[in-house]
This record gives sequence, C-alpha cells and structure tokens, in this order.
Amino acid sequence: MSSIDVTLRTLKLVSPEASCNTDLTKGPWLFDTGGPDYGPGSSQQDVAPANTPRQGQIPVEYQDASDQELTNRILAAKQTLGERLVILGHHYQRDEVVAFADFVGDSFQLANAAQTREKAEYIVFCGVHFMAETADILSSENQSVILPNLAAGCSMADMADESSVEECWEQLMDLYKDERTDDGKASVIPVTYMNCSAALKAFVGKNGGIVCTSSNAATVLEWAFERGQRVLFFPDQHLGRNTAKAMGVALEHMPMWNPRKALGGSDARTLLDAKVILWHGFCSVHKRFNVGQIQKARTEHPGVQIVVHPECPMPVVDAADMAGSTDYIQKAVAAAPAGSVFGIGTEINMVNRLAAEHPEHTIFCLDPLICPCSTMYRIHPGYIAWVLEALVAGEVVNQISVPASVAADAKVALERMLAARP
Ligand code: SF4
Repeated sequence: MSSIDVTLRTLKLVSPEASCNTDLTKGPWLFDTGGPDYGPGSSQQDVAPANTPRQGQIPVEYQDASDQELTNRILAAKQTLGERLVILGHHYQRDEVVAFADFVGDSFQLANAAQTREKAEYIVFCGVHFMAETADILSSENQSVILPNLAAGCSMADMADESSVEECWEQLMDLYKDERTDDGKASVIPVTYMNCSAALKAFVGKNGGIVCTSSNAATVLEWAFERGQRVLFFPDQHLGRNTAKAMGVALEHMPMWNPRKALGGSDARTLLDAKVILWHGFCSVHKRFNVGQIQKARTEHPGVQIVVHPECPMPVVDAADMAGSTDYIQKAVAAAPAGSVFGIGTEINMVNRLAAEHPEHTIFCLDPLICPCSTMYRIHPGYIAWVLEALVAGEVVNQISVPASVAADAKVALERMLAARP
C-alpha cells in the first residue's frame, strides 16, 4: 500500500464528511470500464466528453502483482531497453510512479525534455494525454510516445473542445471585422494554455497564436499584446485572469466566454472593450483551494508562507504570499532558510514529495482533504510494467500519435512558446 493510500484511508476515518471519493485507493483498472469517465478524485463532478480516450483492461497479471513484483519487472525492462527508453514524469504523479522516471518536471520542462532526448526510441510519458501529445509533436519521427493509461486525460483540457473554440472565434471575427487598428495589430490573438488538445494547439498556430504554460504565461501574454489588441485565453480562466491582473489588466476588461451561451454570455460592447477574453474552464484540483484555508493556516502557523499555483481562483492567489508554477513552488521551497513553514496550494502528491525532500521545513497542503488529480492518478506501476514489457517483446502499446496535418500547425504554436522563455 502506498503512502497516499494510507493517508486517504486514515482521512476517511477522521473525516466522514469528506467529499473526495476514496475509491482512488483501489487499482485504477477498476475504473477502466469503457465509459467516458474521469473516475474518483478531484474531477469526479466533471463531465467527461463522449470522445474521451478510454483504456481497456490490462492483463490480470499486472493488476494482481505485488508492488515489489511490479518494481522488479519495471527495473528489468528498463535495463533491457537501456538508452532506447526514457521515462518522463510530471510532478503530480504519485511517488510509486516518479520512482521510475528519468526526468521529473512540469509541463514546460517535460515539453523541453521530450525534444532533447534524441537517443530514446520510446518516450514513456507518465503524465496526462495532452502532455503526451505535445511530446509526440516535439519529438522526432523515429520516436514513439507512449501513455501508460489512455484514460489519463485532463478535465480542464476537455472543457475547451475544437468546435466550441472555432464557434467562439467565428463570432469574435464577425464582431471585430470593422475594427480599425492604426498600429496594424490583429483584433484578437488566441492563446491556449498547454492543457488542451493538439487540435487546439493547431488552431492557435493557424490563427497567429501561441501556447503558454504556468511558467511563462506572463511572457506569452506580452508576446500576444505586442501583436494584438486583445487575447482569447483558454481553457483555464484562472491562469488567464491571475496572469493578466498581475500585468495590470482591469477585471472589467476580462469578460468570461461561456461556450454554452450566445456571445459567450457577454455583450458586444463588453467584448469590444475586452483585453483578455477568458474561457469558462478550470482545474478541479486547484479550485478546491479557498481563502478560508489560508486564513486558518495563518492563524495556526504564524509566519507561514503561503504559495499557490496560478490555476487557483483569483481571491486565493491574492491572499497568498507567492503564486507560481510547480517549478516556481519547488524553487521557492528550496531557496528558503531552514525552519521555514509553507502552506502550499497545489496537487497533493507534489506537496507530500516536497515535505519529504525538505525535512528542514514544515510543509503542508492548504486543503485538509487529500484529493489527488483523478486523471494523473490513472497512471500506476501496473500500467508502466505492461507497456515496458510490451516494448521488450517488440510491441508498442498505447502510442500517442498526432496526425501530421495537426502536428504541423501545433508545432508552430509550441515553438513560439518554447522561444518565449520565462
Ligand atoms: S491537475 Fe488539473 S490541470 Fe492538471 S491534469 Fe489534473 S485536472 Fe488537469
């Protein structure tokens, strides 16, 4: 049983009113039922689109294997494959997965890592679907990117689908068609957070736009404002709002676009005055954080430093001492003098790992209820053993392959991002 399993079970006993489904403690294969579903965890209330990638059942031998047996099998396969293999792991993966990663990072760092591991024939991506797509786009033709569990998607990414964004774009183009700009700037520049499908990255590439991550969102918005009057930012409203607000954009110039409403639920005047049009998307992990948790942490731990991820709602970011990407959070903790106290607002696996790596500090998660990302949690050593042993046997399973026509436009947008370093 993993440390997080133990913690979840303990919390179930002490917190019966808990809203996070603790069925996460069971094997993820129990949720590979073939239906569109994120499974338990933070996204359990989110609606998965019908076309969400699904994972079939992996062989029972991987479901029944003990932790030690899976470890032995994964290490043996890694040794056999040698430099032909690289395993990438996102910070939000559980410890039992991160233990096998050759490189751990945030989505920006992993995008770079995928591009620079030229010797590896196989990139096994322990993250979520959009990250594996990005790795496939940036890697060379003779490399295969593998996602150990196809159901490891992202509910936030699914909140912006291609047809809804195209429909929004058509309405905006129609609204801005008579706009005159003396400086030759475009009426609107599309900016997508990395957390979206390859099709949407291609959309921004085709329409003069760019991708951003939480590491470089401000740099990317500056890039966009040099080229356009305003920005359409999707899918995460919170990253867009927090970043633009920090750059001095007034809240009244940041209307929300709800794809289920006419003109996004806004009106023509508001959209003409807009500087950043925010898509109605969010991360179900980070929306769990609230100002009350910060106030409680300050009361119970005088001198605590509150560090949160910019996917948190704006009042949380405003009430925090610092806000930044996972890389930023990691560096803030590493740079602090021994004895520091941190209340952190991001995914629990990363917070627990930081606490273990920095025993000289007191580090805790602001959310008292441990509720991991439902989709990151779909990766488990059982799936890693399955994909690696298939590779040893000469078979590539769960390959993520972006069609060349989509990849070409998406790459344009990604390369603009990689050039726009934080
Ligand atoms: S933490 Fe949030 S944004 Fe990241 S994969 Fe999970 S749902 Fe998506």
